[in-house]
Amino acid sequence: MKNSKERRYEGGAKHKSAFMTRFLVVCPNCQKDAEVSVDNPWRLNNGQLKCKNCFYSEAANDLVCYHVSIKRNCDHCGQLIKVTVPNQKNKKSTLRIPCPHCETVRIYQPKNQEDRLIYQSSSNSNDPVFNLPLWLQTSVKGHLFWAYNYQHLNEIKTYVISELRERQSNYYMTMVERLPQFIKSAKNRNAILKIIEKLEKGQQEKIKVKNFKQSLFYHAS
Ligand SMILES: [Zn+2]
Ligand SMILES: [Zn+2]
Repeated sequence: MKNSKERRYEGGAKHKSAFMTRFLVVCPNCQKDAEVSVDNPWRLNNGQLKCKNCFYSEAANDLVCYHVSIKRNCDHCGQLIKVTVPNQKNKKSTLRIPCPHCETVRIYQPKNQEDRLIYQSSSNSNDPVFNLPLWLQTSVKGHLFWAYNYQHLNEIKTYVISELRERQSNYYMTMVERLPQFIKSAKNRNAILKIIEKLEKGQQEKIKVKNFKQSLFYHAS
């Protein structure tokens, strides 16, 4: 029984960023679902990780560290001194080091580069703040299918079910229009709906995450 009203995508013209303030991720402490939230998709520094299962929490702010470096010529032997001290919790205004060539000790004013510690993830789709694997991800026919959160998953589902998919906006590509072709393809509809149902029920294969962080080069300044 076909009802064209039901089959038309009426989700509205939502940009991908509309879904990018909440991310369901694998909790690094209990391996169940936790939530990463940001106030604004373009400001990740105030991101928070909270787990409703084990009450573990982390703030992106606490993961900021500094790469302190010096690159200059020694005033005694003239040779290049290049020293980097990674993962410093605080900025350093001075660094006292011996020249690696002539051992003359000097106090230098180093450059401080802001960096961020992130989780080392083996998954291909992670949240943008902590780099934890997305909870809602699974593979379908050799493709990776993922969603940031249940609202995002539901929007994809509504689109996949719909047969009438009109252009949503003339100004930008909406989230659903940017979906990969394997999700949009009508021949994959049933397979995609099946895995969406699995994700809704939490029956996907679970990814384990190690509580191990690595430094990410955040931005050069
Ligand atoms: Zn947890
Ligand atoms: Zn020297």
